[in-house]
Amino acid sequence: MSEHTTEEDTSLLHEWRSKIEIANRNNIFCHCCSCGYEWVGSSFGAACSSCGSQNVEQISCWQFPDD
Ligand SMILES: [Zn+2]
Repeated sequence: MSEHTTEEDTSLLHEWRSKIEIANRNNIFCHCCSCGYEWVGSSFGAACSSCGSQNVEQISCWQFPDD
C-alpha cells in the first residue's frame, strides 16, 4: 500500500513529531510519590533513582502551560 502525501504535509508532520519526541526525551518531570525525590528524566517508566520506587508521577514539561 502506497499512500501519497504532499511534501509539505510530510515535513510538517515530521517536524511536529520530532518536536514531541525531543520534548519527551529531554523534559519529563518526575516526582517520586514515595520519597518526594524530584528530577527531570529522559524516559517514561523510570524508577526513582533515590529510593527505587516505581510509584513515580511523570509529567512532560511541554504540557505545562506558558505564562
Ligand atoms: Zn523515591
